[in-house]
Amino acid sequence: MIDPEQFRHSIGLSDIAIERVVFDEGNVLKIYVTSTKKGCHCHCCGAWIEDFFALGEEISLRHLPMFGHQVFIVLRPERYGCPRCEDRPTTTQTLDWYTPRSRLTKAFEQEVLLTLINSTVEDVSRKQALGSDAIEGVLKRYVAEQVDWSRFTQLPIIGVDEIALKKGHRDFVTVVSARLADGQLTILAILADRTKATVKAFFKSIPKRLRATVELVCSDLYAGFLGAAKAVFGRRVAVCADRFHVAKLYRDGVESLRKKEMRRLKGELSKTEYESLKNVHWILRKSDADLSADERRIRRRVFEFSPKLHQAHALSEALTAIYEAPLTKGQGKRRLRAWIRRVTKRGLSCFNRFIKTLTTHLEIIANYFIERQTSGFVEGLNNKIKVLKRRGYGFTNRKRLFQRVYLDLHGYALFG
Ligand SMILES: [Zn+2]
Repeated sequence: MIDPEQFRHSIGLSDIAIERVVFDEGNVLKIYVTSTKKGCHCHCCGAWIEDFFALGEEISLRHLPMFGHQVFIVLRPERYGCPRCEDRPTTTQTLDWYTPRSRLTKAFEQEVLLTLINSTVEDVSRKQALGSDAIEGVLKRYVAEQVDWSRFTQLPIIGVDEIALKKGHRDFVTVVSARLADGQLTILAILADRTKATVKAFFKSIPKRLRATVELVCSDLYAGFLGAAKAVFGRRVAVCADRFHVAKLYRDGVESLRKKEMRRLKGELSKTEYESLKNVHWILRKSDADLSADERRIRRRVFEFSPKLHQAHALSEALTAIYEAPLTKGQGKRRLRAWIRRVTKRGLSCFNRFIKTLTTHLEIIANYFIERQTSGFVEGLNNKIKVLKRRGYGFTNRKRLFQRVYLDLHGYALFG
C-alpha cells in the first residue's frame, strides 16, 4: 500500500489534502484534492481575507506523469468574500503551484519547456500528448518575446548578422546577439529587416548604462550594419568583421575560378578524364586533414590540369592560416598586406573582389586579431537559427523565433 502522506509528498504540490485517487480509463490518473490553505488576497482591495464563501467550479490541471499515467489534479478552488469592500466581492483562491487560467501545473509547464529545448512544438505535442496551443501558451507565459535589459550589467561584445527566414526569399531579418563577460552567448533581438535605420534604432534602444559598456561590435561587412554601429557607438567602439563572413568572401573567389576552369577542362579533356574529376567542388572546400586518399588523388589531378586553381587554393589556405596564427593586430595587418602582394605578383584575378573589400575594410578585418577568442560566436548563433529553421518552426513570426532561440540558449539554466 502507498502511504497517503508519502504519496502527497511525491506529487510535490503544497497546501493540499488528497481526497481520492482514480485510475481513469485510457491511462489517466485523476487525483482529487482540496485546499488546506485558508484565505486569499481580495482582488479588489488586496487585503488578506478569510471569510469562506463557497467552492468554485471544478478545475482539472495536467501534472507530471506518474506510473506511466497522465496525471490530472482535480480541485474545486475555494472562494472568499471581502468584508471591507462594498458588495462583499468574492475572490477565488489560487494555490502556488498553478497560474490562474492555465490548465497545467507549474511543474508540468516547466517539464514542457525542458522538452521543448532543441525540439519542436509538434514533437513535444506528440511526446506529452498535449495540444500545440497549450504548448504555445506555456512558451508565452514563461519566455519573453523581447529582451529584458535588466538582466544585464554589461554588454561587452555585440554581434550583428542577417538571415533569410524563408528559403529562397530575400527578406532578410537581422539577428542581434551578445557575448557576455562570462563567455555566455545570448540573443538581444530579431529585427524586421537589415536596413541601417532599423539596426540603428535598435542600438539606440539599448539603455545608456549598457551602451556605455559595449567594447566591440562583430558583424559582416554589410554597409548598413557598419554604418549603424558607427552612428550609435562612434569611434569609441571597435567594429570587427566576423571571420566566417570574410572566409566566405575569399572562398567564393576560389569557387568562381573553379567553375571557370572546369568549364575550360570540359572542352579540353576527354570525357573519361573529365569525369574522373568528380566532386572537386567539395574536395576543395575540405581541409587537408579531412581528405581521403581518393579525394587527395582527384585534387592532385585537378591541380595538374589547372595550375591556376592550385595557386588560388594555396593562397586561400594561406589566408586561413593567417587567421589561425596567434598574431597581434599589427602583425595580422602586415600578413594580410603581404598576402595581397603575393596574389598580385601571381597575376590571379579571382580574388579581385575580395582584395577590394580587404583593402577598404582592412582595419575592421584586422580587428579580429584583437578579440580573436570571440571568433565564431556570431556564426554559432547563426547556425543555431539555421537548425531551428530546418526543424520547420513557424518562422514568419519573429517574436516566436526570438522565444525559441532564447529557450534553446538559456532553457536548461532557467527551467532545468
Ligand atoms: Zn476587498
